Amino acid sequence: MNSTAKEAVSDILKKVFKPKEKLKPSDWVEGNIRLSSFTTTLHGQYSLRHTPYLRQLYDDIGNPRVRKIVLKKSAQIGATQFANNVILYYVCNFALNILMFMPSQTLAQQFCERSLTPTIHASPVVGNFLTGNEDDLKKTDFLFTSCIARVIGAGSPSRLSSNPAAIVIVDEADKLKDFASEGEAPALQLAEARTISFPNEKKILVMGTPTEENSSVIHSEFLKGSQSYFYVTCPSCNLEQILRFENVRGFEECKLEDGSYDLDLLESKVYYQCSNPECKAHLNEQSKIEMVRKGRWKDHNPKATEDKRSYHISALYSFNITLGSLAKMFLLAKDDIGLLRDFYNSYLGECFAQRASTIKRDHVDLLVKESPYYLRGELLSKPDAVLMAVDTQGDNFWYGIEALYPDGSSSVVEWGPAETFDDLALISQRKFKVRGSDESYPIKRALIDMGGTRTEQVKDFCYKSLRLFWPVIGRVEANGFNLTAKEEYFNFQGKNVLPGLKINDRTFKDILYIRNIRERAGRFYLPSNTDDELRIQLSSEHLVERKVRGRIETEWRCTNRRNHLGDCFKYLEGLKYLLIPMFEEHRQKERLRAAIRPEEPSQQVRDYALNPWN
Ligand SMILES: [Zn+2]
Repeated sequence: MNSTAKEAVSDILKKVFKPKEKLKPSDWVEGNIRLSSFTTTLHGQYSLRHTPYLRQLYDDIGNPRVRKIVLKKSAQIGATQFANNVILYYVCNFALNILMFMPSQTLAQQFCERSLTPTIHASPVVGNFLTGNEDDLKKTDFLFTSCIARVIGAGSPSRLSSNPAAIVIVDEADKLKDFASEGEAPALQLAEARTISFPNEKKILVMGTPTEENSSVIHSEFLKGSQSYFYVTCPSCNLEQILRFENVRGFEECKLEDGSYDLDLLESKVYYQCSNPECKAHLNEQSKIEMVRKGRWKDHNPKATEDKRSYHISALYSFNITLGSLAKMFLLAKDDIGLLRDFYNSYLGECFAQRASTIKRDHVDLLVKESPYYLRGELLSKPDAVLMAVDTQGDNFWYGIEALYPDGSSSVVEWGPAETFDDLALISQRKFKVRGSDESYPIKRALIDMGGTRTEQVKDFCYKSLRLFWPVIGRVEANGFNLTAKEEYFNFQGKNVLPGLKINDRTFKDILYIRNIRERAGRFYLPSNTDDELRIQLSSEHLVERKVRGRIETEWRCTNRRNHLGDCFKYLEGLKYLLIPMFEEHRQKERLRAAIRPEEPSQQVRDYALNPWN
């Protein structure tokens, strides 16, 4: 072989045996991922032009020095497609198993049906890794020639502790069920532990919308990482800045004489005001998009280690949602504490901190005045359910009874002290009449507080009440309880057989005292002959500020030690939170059945709707 021939052969060999150069993940996804028209209106080639801020996160995936990526996010920023594309990047470029955890099996299935499966079928490159056997692409489990990818609804510790995997993705970290109270490690820790046998390959992606500042998992993960924010440059003054909702302006021009807003005008009037006080340029939607396209991430935490990257992004950066529609959502939410909290969490990707607030007797008086007229002991109309809750004291009890109606409103029916368990049993047998009618309804479910020193007696009473009484515990974040409310079986005589509830004290005090009583926005009614006792007990808690490690936090404090009735109705807020969606779901089913088979009597469905837990 002459030397030219030798060189030619060597060239060919080099080409054949050259290690396959891996594209940067951002280039790979743009070159290979195709979106199905089923998934999005932007179907076809995936492009980061619509979500330019995600480019760096993709490239962290490809950076071997980065082990954990945290995305504290709002809705509408392309995170679902991001998780989806990360999975397929691994499927096509590595031989590492992938686990994705979501808060429930339903969400896991939805993600697979609406995002992952359609993208697998729409992207030809993934075809090279299909086994050819349709059965290998199950609902939430996917067997490829390179690896296995599983999407798991993390509803129990055993599901979180399933198979090991090098790549773990956690979506909606704040909504994962928490098993800390059962002696388990926190959910996120269990999920991350799946990667333990892959020290050199592991990659953990944690995403989520934050909730309460004190308890938010995603917020605390964000603080542990690089704390990166996306900066954009004002075209007028060149100041680099983070987009913040307080700089969304132009509301005033849409204000009407009576103080309300013309919501239809917002889209054309609202603008972004440059945060430079010397500039204050008015930037419109198009400028926002151009600024975001040229933006860049900056780290705010110099102490973070290189392996932990954390990012915050809000819907202000989204190309799917305009500044005008964000402004509109804000105006619709601003007077309702629950909606406002949701706006902060879901659209700004921020924790919501309730400011200090005093609940006064005047607030209760106004609520009585504004409620529809009815008397103590009466129901306003046919209820979905009559509910009771009991606050347990050392030597007596306080009880409150509330009716819940199909439109989501509720009325306080009865309240007072009780001496013994027998008294409670008697009260729980009462029936309540609908005002102006002969119809009457019994109590469908009663909760009894099992905190304090009488836990065993309370459990015994619940057991004997044949499931009418459920034990309830109000938990705070300090106890490691991050959820709003959940059903749980409590231990009785050595077995977990006693159905009951755990509720987040803070959340439902906020709802009862701020939304229902102070703001009077909860469609929560009091009878016209509400007595002093109830008026006093519903105005004895105050939200106060305190400084914790340099941050302002708020907490509820009781001023006169008589908040027992407030506690009863707080427990009932927790119960309603679980019941209202159930009733709604059953009503929808009933409507559907009536539409399909109008001749079929729906009494059975109706009975079920009244008592979905039996
Ligand atoms: Zn400027």
